[in-house]
Amino acid sequence: MREVDGKYMDVCDVCGDEYQNGPGVYEGHRLELYGDAVCCDNCWKLNWDGWASIHEDKIKAICAEKAVVVPVRNSKGWLPRA
Ligand SMILES: [Zn+2]
Repeated sequence: MREVDGKYMDVCDVCGDEYQNGPGVYEGHRLELYGDAVCCDNCWKLNWDGWASIHEDKIKAICAEKAVVVPVRNSKGWLPRA
C-alpha cells in the first residue's frame, strides 16, 4: 500500500498493476477461490468468465503460495475467476 495524491494504492495480485484502495474508491476484488488474493478492477471485469490463459501461471502461483487447491476448470476450459 502506498499513498499517491491522497489516494491509497495497492498492487494487483494477478497482473501487478496498481489499483485504488480508498478513500471512497475501492477497486480491489477479493478472490475467495484463491485464498483471498485481491485483483484489480480491470482483472475482475476482463476475466469474468474465467482467467485468460496469460494469467494462468500467476493464478497457479497464487494457489501454491496460499496453499489452496487449483479450482476445477469451467466449461470454457478456463480457471474460474471467483
Ligand atoms: Zn490486475
